[in-house]
Amino acid sequence: MIERLENPAAAAEWSAAQRAAGRTLGFVPTMGALHAGHLSLVRRALEENDAACVSVFVNPLQFDEAQDFDHYPRDFARDVELLDGVGCSMVFTGTLAQFFPDELDADGRLLPQHYVEPGAAAAGLEGACRSGHFEGVATIVDRLFDVVQPTHAYFGQKDYQQALVVTDLARRRGGPKVRVCPIAREPHGLARSSRNERLPADVRERAAVIHRALVAADQLWGTGERDADALASRLSAVLATEPGFELEYAELRDPRAWGPEAPHGSLERAVALVAGRFGPVRLIDNLVLGDAS
Ligand code: AMP
Repeated sequence: MIERLENPAAAAEWSAAQRAAGRTLGFVPTMGALHAGHLSLVRRALEENDAACVSVFVNPLQFDEAQDFDHYPRDFARDVELLDGVGCSMVFTGTLAQFFPDELDADGRLLPQHYVEPGAAAAGLEGACRSGHFEGVATIVDRLFDVVQPTHAYFGQKDYQQALVVTDLARRRGGPKVRVCPIAREPHGLARSSRNERLPADVRERAAVIHRALVAADQLWGTGERDADALASRLSAVLATEPGFELEYAELRDPRAWGPEAPHGSLERAVALVAGRFGPVRLIDNLVLGDAS
């Protein structure tokens, strides 16, 4: 039976007891509304550690739009049930005030000096589109790592740039070891996301255009094309076939030479990244080109 804890202090105590018993601990931070993608991270954490725990916290620090935060799906009871079903050892939640006691102002906002610097990987793409997003991510992840002090922490490649940011954060802190796990997709290709719940069924199907665009770029890569602009053009051309999709970016990056700007010229390695909206729902996805072969 899963241990369900309602505040970070209790989670810290539970985690300390695991460490004291010499057990390795895998940790999966989430914002809840769990789906098969989250559960794949938990399964991996259970495979590689003696115990696995999950945090469920819709972190207000990382939202740049009030409507996105307000409409973010929340169902803690269902999350606990799903986690119990895969054998997760512990799940915890908390409030902003519990995570940051004595660090909030009178209006309940985190004081600026308590934000954690997200590092160079935060520049461009999501960092450019969502002001303050990665500061919010780095700040909560840093605090979650303090609470749990896990052996390994598991993140999804779905949030490619976030995985870079938290890997760098963990390196600067001296731990935990970060594992980045593959993207779980719906049958027609759409990357699983808690936000998909807000899409009507027909829009969910149309949103598969994002995956088709990524696959088209990958196919072009497979023919030997290495020019960044040519690959980006292929992405944009496929995305443009879906009039309901409001594009924010469709760009390439060299994963080993990450920078804020899209590269030009020939690439040795490439990841294609897409962000945009169907109505009010913002979606992101990516594909490392040539990875499947
Ligand atoms: P979130 O609840 O959206 O903050 O996600 C929590 C963790 O699950 C993050 O590390 C995400 O990258 C990861 N994740 C979200 N969606 C997927 C997916 N479709 N496949 C794999 N991992 C995912």
